Amino acid sequence: MLATGSRLARPSTAGVNEHAFDVDQIEQAVRLEQHLKCLADRPDSAARNTVVVAGGGFTRIETATEMPARLRAILGNAADIKVIIVDRGEKIGASMGADISVSIAEASAEVGVEWRLKSSVTGVDASGVTLADGQRIETSTVIWTTGVHASSLTEQIPGERDALGRLHVDSHLKVIGQDDIFATGDVAYAASDDIGNHALMTCQHAIVLGRHARNNVAAQMLGVAPTPYSQPKYVTCLDLGAWGAVYTEGWDRQVKLVRQEGKALKTQINTQWFYPPAANRETAWAAADPLIPIA
Ligand SMILES: Cc1cc2nc3c(=O)[nH]c(=O)nc-3n(C[C@H](O)[C@H](O)[C@H](O)COP(=O)(O)OP(=O)(O)OC[C@H]3O[C@@H](n4cnc5c(N)ncnc54)[C@H](O)[C@@H]3O)c2cc1C
Repeated sequence: MLATGSRLARPSTAGVNEHAFDVDQIEQAVRLEQHLKCLADRPDSAARNTVVVAGGGFTRIETATEMPARLRAILGNAADIKVIIVDRGEKIGASMGADISVSIAEASAEVGVEWRLKSSVTGVDASGVTLADGQRIETSTVIWTTGVHASSLTEQIPGERDALGRLHVDSHLKVIGQDDIFATGDVAYAASDDIGNHALMTCQHAIVLGRHARNNVAAQMLGVAPTPYSQPKYVTCLDLGAWGAVYTEGWDRQVKLVRQEGKALKTQINTQWFYPPAANRETAWAAADPLIPIA
């Protein structure tokens, strides 16, 4: 069974590899944290006080909305801090859905995140970023959050892959065209319902995919019936820094909880649900059951 996850897909934009930070792996997040703390030792300047976040998706918004409080804690309340999201869209958070974008705009204004819309970064260097229209933003801190790509081990398995490198799997999570290879989590392109939706590269899908894949590998070895994967419910919980968090349900992301109610749920997810079960046989076995109802 292949379960090797994904990695940040670095773009070809000039200077990103040399000068941008990311938060894809813990080591990179620690590197960013150390850099932010060291900003306090630099002389006050626009570049020191500015963070530019480029890329897409939820990680970008969560990272940006956390930054104002983080920068103030490091540079002090008197510093003229700026956190800027560079985005190709015409409206704040529009690519996330109409309902949720209202919360994203409200939170951005409240915590102090500026959106540079209809814009993209064409180059990163040691003192700032250049935008497609030639404008420059002076900054010592560029955070790149463009999407992820499935682990390169997927390339060693013959089979169809989607644009993100994920292997097409059947409802039992077996790689299509292979008798003995299963794929799960971020390396699997799996239908999550009967109406055309597919699992995303998220924990909520990876956890349920994982339960089914390990069950079905064992079932094949034992010669018993496998359990088809199905996960029609889709939710999101987006952290928006000091504003709180927004929780949505459905593929159109209808907002159900906002601010501190959303944050309480996000904290529960981040501190409890994401973690593996306690390392004892009975708890681990119970947590791996593919028939656990999806909350
Ligand atoms: C910054 C960030 C924030 C995120 N926030 C959220 C969120 O809020 N909500 C959400 O639902 N999802 C979130 N995700 C996505 C989520 O983390 C992934 O979708 C999920 O972890 C995928 O699970 P996985 O088991 O497929 O892969 P992983 O959790 O990546 O696990 C894969 C494992 O395989 C190991 N591995 C890789 N290659 C090899 C090899 N060759 N040999 C042996 N081992 C190997 C890796 O070290 C790793 O331990 C976030 C991701 C990132 C990067």
